[in-house]
Amino acid sequence: MRVRSSNGYEERIQGPNSNSLKFAKVLCASCNNTKSQPFDLAYDAFALSIHRNAGAIVESGHIRFSRIYGKNWRRERISLAKYFVKNICCRLAEDGVRVPQMVIDYMNGVSSVLPNFVLEMNINLAKYELGKHLREVHSLDGGSLWSGGHGVIYDENQSAIGTYSHLGFDWFNLDYQFLQDLTRGEVNFFLGDVVHLERFWPDGFASGDVAKACRSCNPGVISKWNPEGM
Ligand SMILES: [Zn+2]
Repeated sequence: MRVRSSNGYEERIQGPNSNSLKFAKVLCASCNNTKSQPFDLAYDAFALSIHRNAGAIVESGHIRFSRIYGKNWRRERISLAKYFVKNICCRLAEDGVRVPQMVIDYMNGVSSVLPNFVLEMNINLAKYELGKHLREVHSLDGGSLWSGGHGVIYDENQSAIGTYSHLGFDWFNLDYQFLQDLTRGEVNFFLGDVVHLERFWPDGFASGDVAKACRSCNPGVISKWNPEGM
């Protein structure tokens, strides 16, 4: 299934029946040497907590790291960021982008400053509505993973300076930018224990659209959400 987002088309990389929220453990050469198991564990705990507390989190628009990780939340939060960075680096490598040494140093703990990345966690309300629809109408429950294609960021002289995309699971979304010359990154979840998550509707989507776009509920209907009527 494909869902239109602000970044164009994206793949649903796992169906709604799967209970796994884990991205494939395919590592590029740069990331292969990092000791990434703590990152994986931090992500697993995060994904499970987000999945279980979905209603309350989407309602309130915030998460609290100490509720997910307990007293070690500061350390675990860094591991979580490294999980995302590792995942993004491997996708960049797939697209032929060289991962800077500074990023590898950050992941290995040589440097404590995240370079090159702008990361923002937020809430995709269309995907939240989709999950609710699949659960309530089609009795499909479980996690789904999302991954967008890469777009190119240009400077005012039309030179390519970076790429952007997003990844996520269920309604949880991580927007990211990779900027070749950025020495200090920006992360919207490093400010404190509580993270405010912006709730957004992707361009062209509003409340109620998911039911209209559902192919199972509207077989053969040609609409802007389903131009082929499939
Ligand atoms: Zn439906």
